Amino acid sequence: MNAMLPYLGALLLAAVVVITWAARLWPARPAPVASVRPDAPEMWLACHTTRCAHMTMRHDPTPAGLVCRGCGAVNGGAA
Ligand SMILES: [Zn+2]
Repeated sequence: MNAMLPYLGALLLAAVVVITWAARLWPARPAPVASVRPDAPEMWLACHTTRCAHMTMRHDPTPAGLVCRGCGAVNGGAA
């Protein structure tokens, strides 16, 4: 059994790689935007969620705050 441990570790690593790769391909849920003020310009802010990976994303101002178009997270104060 001990001789199989490196192979089991490699198999586990390959499984993790395949699962995370498949998760990245999974389509993102549409952002739950409650209401966007039509007169407010979109804002580009850094989004620090795992999905947006610290990239600068478009944000829509809503009464709840600035909602990321990439992942739906609320970043920033209430509008
Ligand atoms: Zn985001």
